[in-house]
Amino acid sequence: MNNVVRLEHVFKHYTFGEQQVQALIDVTLNINHGDFLAIAGPSGSGKSTLLNLIGCIDIPSRGKIFIADQDVAGRTPDQLAELRARTIGFIFQTFNLLPVLSAEENVEYPLLQFKELSAKERRLRVAEYLGIVGLSKFARHRPNQLSGGQRQRVAIARALTTQPKIVLADEPTANLDHKTGEGVLQLMKEINGSFKTTFIFSTHDPRVMSMASRLVHIEDGQVVGEDVKEDEKDPGG
Ligand code: ADP
Ligand code: MG
Repeated sequence: MNNVVRLEHVFKHYTFGEQQVQALIDVTLNINHGDFLAIAGPSGSGKSTLLNLIGCIDIPSRGKIFIADQDVAGRTPDQLAELRARTIGFIFQTFNLLPVLSAEENVEYPLLQFKELSAKERRLRVAEYLGIVGLSKFARHRPNQLSGGQRQRVAIARALTTQPKIVLADEPTANLDHKTGEGVLQLMKEINGSFKTTFIFSTHDPRVMSMASRLVHIEDGQVVGEDVKEDEKDPGG
């Protein structure tokens, strides 16, 4: 099976006081291994909700979600945490680095839960991924000693250091200027090309959308269209 993520007729509603918000309505989506996919839509369209469901941070009101061919439903919180830790890396709009930790300590942080890795193996892994994002020289810097673009590169290294199958990025360029944002997207695309890591990111920025290989448009909680770049279409059809 080639799908790393599969959503079947997924609905999500939130109850807010007396109100019910239909955040996602009947979303069916197959995401393939190695996709570089953008979820595109205006503010409030359901992008974060969709990413949170894929990331097993939240559960659907109805419908099924499969991550790496495993049905997410019926798992205990511990099992979900384990699936998340081994399979998914997260990148956030506001970087979410721990301010008291250096760049290398931030990147090391998700590895601390993997008891099978020795301290030396962790250090090698951290150095490798800081190198990949071009920040070897900034390993000892704290987040407040780094620019926005550099912080997001640390966050990319942190997302990759566990070698996840899937990286989820919720509006990763929203707090960056256009040029820096394009650099961050370019880096993500290079990593997608060389490691075949599946990237799923959300955006409402047309320039960021244009860099995706696959674009899923959502409006008012519904998938309303999809574009696949001509040169990225599977030659097998
Ligand atoms: P986007 O990320 O595209 O801006 P969201 O997924 O955050 O959209 O939100 C989709 C809809 O769900 C919006 O109407 C939003 O107000 C609502 N919503 C999101 N999270 C909650 C929540 N925790 N409680 C109530 N409503 C929510
Ligand atoms: Mg959002």
